[in-house]
Amino acid sequence: MPLKNTFAKFQKIHLETFGCTANVGDTMKLRAILRNAGHEIVEKDEADAVIVNTCTVTKRTELNVIKRLKELKGEGKEVIVAGCMAAAQPELVKSILGNDVTMVTPRDICNGYSEEHELDFDGVVTVIPIAMGCVGNCSYCIVKRARGNLKSYEPEKIFEAVKSAVEMGAKEIRITSQDCSAYGWENSSALKLKLPELLELITSVEGDFRIRVGMMNPFTVIPILDELLDAFDSEKVFKFFHVPVQSGSDKVLMDMRRNYKAADFVEIVKSIRKRFEYSTICTDFIIGFPTETEDDFLSSLNLLDDMKPEKVNITRFSPRPGTEAFKLKDLLEREKKKRSRIFSAFYHKIALERNTALEGKKLPILITEKGKKGGVICRDPSYRMIVINKDLPLGASYTVRITDVRSIYLVGEVQNVDLE
Ligand code: SF4
Repeated sequence: MPLKNTFAKFQKIHLETFGCTANVGDTMKLRAILRNAGHEIVEKDEADAVIVNTCTVTKRTELNVIKRLKELKGEGKEVIVAGCMAAAQPELVKSILGNDVTMVTPRDICNGYSEEHELDFDGVVTVIPIAMGCVGNCSYCIVKRARGNLKSYEPEKIFEAVKSAVEMGAKEIRITSQDCSAYGWENSSALKLKLPELLELITSVEGDFRIRVGMMNPFTVIPILDELLDAFDSEKVFKFFHVPVQSGSDKVLMDMRRNYKAADFVEIVKSIRKRFEYSTICTDFIIGFPTETEDDFLSSLNLLDDMKPEKVNITRFSPRPGTEAFKLKDLLEREKKKRSRIFSAFYHKIALERNTALEGKKLPILITEKGKKGGVICRDPSYRMIVINKDLPLGASYTVRITDVRSIYLVGEVQNVDLE
């Protein structure tokens, strides 16, 4: 049944999104499909139905989603469940909302979407998915069950999506997938491009905009590293490299089935920093994987200390149903909490030291978002987050002087004087 028929009996629809950039991209596709079919996108109280685009990557997210579904059910709302929980845990969804609940998986959205559905977005930031699924099979990952094997989207269609987004005023375009550097790994006849070539194609679009490249798995980065650095050399690509390493211990990486060693991550980071004077290395660590010993944890701490990545996402391991790691004996919650507290404190110390070195510096910035508490959020060419406590137009560019720092963002004042 065509996706649009799934929503036929509802005129006014409200959309809610949990999770990653890829899920935000799927919500944008859903919105385009709904608008194209004549539905109104409205606030929750006016809605005939609420679509919750779910995430279930960790136990904590699963519990947050369950709480939200129960709240909406309690308000007597018609609830449609989309996203990773619909694909990976349909029985859980039925146990909350009943057997006749309507569910829409990420694959349904991918198959139901076509270029006639114009993507729209608020502000100057948009999301363009370049593929879905991945070529990995990590032992802890429930996303694999939800999004499956790699399906790279056609480069011409991505090019057109970028072109129309720029024409609609996009200044920051976040290209996303479970693993962007796996783009084109299917090697099908229609798809000869890999990520570096795709970046060259989309940066050939006329206009003043910047691309932020999403997550890239170390084992799919290594084979294309040199070409990738060439492609990132474009002024239109933020020098932001999100490369989740997950652990500093090769034994744990093996148990996670990550297909690379810590040394591969080190090589990637060193190559990036050798090529670009300024860059942001963003990485992820899973703390408390079942087979992680004290020594393995120390290996992760040492890797953090050696590489001092600018941005680190820290996740406490939680067993996900249907995964290999679900069968392993979990560490005690208090032990995982203790380790992630130590890890987080150490990261914030490193990040603050790094940012303190930027105090007084002048940086070129692009204003991309309104601040939640007023002011605006900007990005410099390395995608550092800079807050300006002033109401300035989205999409404008200025030079700022860094007047204050925090571990995860900088504070700036507009200068527009020559760069030091
Ligand atoms: S690469 Fe691994 S962690 Fe990433 S989506 Fe695929 S299976 Fe999950």
